[in-house]
Amino acid sequence: ATKPYDDQNIFAKILRGEIPSKPVYEDEFALAIPDINPQAPTHILVIPKGAYVSWEDFSSRGSDAEIAGFIRAVGKVARDAGLVEPGYRMLANTGADAHQTIGHLHVHLFAGRPLGPMLV
Ligand code: 5GP
Repeated sequence: ATKPYDDQNIFAKILRGEIPSKPVYEDEFALAIPDINPQAPTHILVIPKGAYVSWEDFSSRGSDAEIAGFIRAVGKVARDAGLVEPGYRMLANTGADAHQTIGHLHVHLFAGRPLGPMLV
């Protein structure tokens, strides 16, 4: 089982508007923001609006509508940002060994340079 959701995490505060952000995309299911510490020329975080700790939590407990809506949103963010050509990487760290540092699911999108092979 995953840890219980802590609504004081930074992405929860951003979703509630308590911390300002500059969304590149928003809809019913997702908010997308530039990463504060980008690891590539384009590094976007796509955050589901529901209170889910991780991919594990979301994929097991999320409704079909939320899952479909969120996955569609991730694709749309990448498409609208022009990442499809020449390509992008998406990644979701889940849990301690994966170095998940914020307890609200977020999908990373990396693009803007050749990313090379995955490290792991
Ligand atoms: P994780 O390691 O949990 O998968 O990734 C967390 C990401 O959130 C990191 O890439 C980090 O730079 C980013 N981040 C942490 N705090 C903030 C913040 O306040 N605003 C934004 N936009 N990104 C953040």
